[in-house]
Amino acid sequence: NGPALLGEIAAAALNVSAMTWRTSPAATELESVVLDWIRQIVGLSPSFRGVLYDTASVAVVHALAGARERSGPEVRARGLAGRDDVRTQRVYASDQAHSSVRKAMILLGLGEQNMVAIPTDAAFRLEVSALREAIEEDLRAGLRPLAVVATVGTTSTASVDPLPEIAALCREHDLWLHIDAAYGGALAILPEGRWVLAGAEQADSVSINPHKWMFVPLDFSVLYMSRPELLRTLFSLVPEYLRGDAMAATVEPGATNAVVDYMDYGIQLGRRFRALKAWMVLRAFGREGMESRVREHVRLARTLAEWVERDPLYDLVAPVMMSVVCFRFEPPGWQGEACDRLNEAIVEAVNASGKAFLTHTRLRNRTVMRVGIGNVLTTEQHLARLWSCVKIAAERACESDRVSSRAPR
Ligand code: PLP
Repeated sequence: NGPALLGEIAAAALNVSAMTWRTSPAATELESVVLDWIRQIVGLSPSFRGVLYDTASVAVVHALAGARERSGPEVRARGLAGRDDVRTQRVYASDQAHSSVRKAMILLGLGEQNMVAIPTDAAFRLEVSALREAIEEDLRAGLRPLAVVATVGTTSTASVDPLPEIAALCREHDLWLHIDAAYGGALAILPEGRWVLAGAEQADSVSINPHKWMFVPLDFSVLYMSRPELLRTLFSLVPEYLRGDAMAATVEPGATNAVVDYMDYGIQLGRRFRALKAWMVLRAFGREGMESRVREHVRLARTLAEWVERDPLYDLVAPVMMSVVCFRFEPPGWQGEACDRLNEAIVEAVNASGKAFLTHTRLRNRTVMRVGIGNVLTTEQHLARLWSCVKIAAERACESDRVSSRAPR
C-alpha cells in the first residue's frame, strides 16, 4: 500500500540505526509509540511492552531464551556445555505449530527432539488434555518442562489454540507461555475478533507480525513481553566503543529521563528504522481503516468458503476463522494418493497460469489447497476469477490423469 511504501522510501533515505536512543532518538521514540499503538489496537494489556524484530522466527528465539534464563540455570553466564546440573528442557507446541519453534530449539541448543508436538482436535487446536499428559510424563521421566508455545492462527488452517486452559496449565506447572499470534493476532483488531487473544494477559510473551495481516510490508514483527526487563538482563552488553552512545545504562528504567536503547533487548546491534512504515500505515488507515480492511478479508474468505461448500466436488477441510481457506477437490472415484496428486496438479496449474498463487498443505494425511488473503487490493472479483481458475484446472487435471492412465506404459 502507498503509505507503507512511502515509509520504506523515507527510512531508506534517512538510513539511521535505531540501536540506541542517541544514534536515532526519532527512530527509537517512534518505535516505542508504534509498538504501543499496535498493543492497543489488538487489546493487549498495558502491562506488555514490545520489542521490534524482523520476523516471528527471531521473536520466538528471544522468547524461549527468556524462558530459559528465567528457569534458573544461568545460561547467559555459564552456557550449557559440560554441565550435569541442568536437566533436559522441554518445550510443547501443537502438531500445527510453525516450524520456527523447532528452529529456535536448534539455535538455542535445546535440541529439536525436545520440542514435543501435542496432537490437535478436529478443528486443529491443541488438545489440552494431551498437553497435560505430556508434561506429567516428562516430569515422571525427570525432564524439565520449560515452555508452551500456543498458536493464534496456525499456518495451515488459522486455528486458535485454547489460551485460557493452556495458560492455567502453565501457571500450575510454572511454565513460560509464549503465544505465537504472528498471523492471527490481527483478528483481535476487530471487536468481534478479540476472543482470539482472550487469556493472552496471562502469557509471558506474545509475538504478532504486522507484516502478515496488518498491511505493513516485510519485515516487521513485534514481541510483547510481560517482563521486558528480563530480555535486557539477558542481552544488555555495552562494550567501550558503544558506551558513548548508550543512554539507558546511565539512568534508572522508569525515571522521568529514562530512555530505551533497543540494542539491549536482543542480539541485533544495528536496527533499521522499521517503525516509520508502520506509523505511516496506522496514521493513514486509522483504527477504523485497519478494522474495515481486516473485516473485509474475513468476509472474502467466508465468501470463498461458501462457494466451496456449495460445490459437491469440493470439501472445506477446516473452519474459516480468519482469511485462510483450506479445501480439497475430491470428485467421486478419487481417493488417497491419486486425489492428493490431483490437488497438487491443480495448485501447480493455477500458479503456472500467473493469475493467482495458491499454496498446498497436508492435513490429516490429505493434500489440500490453501488460499490466504492479506493484500488490501484483493477484491471479490479476484476471488471469483481464482475460483473459476481452480475449476478449470481441476477438470484438466482429471482429464490428463485419465488420458495418461489409458496410455500404454
Ligand atoms: N508463526 C506462524 C503461525 C506463521 O504462520 C509464520 C509464518 O508463516 C511464522 C510464525 C514465521 O513468521 P516469520 O516469517 O515472520 O518468521
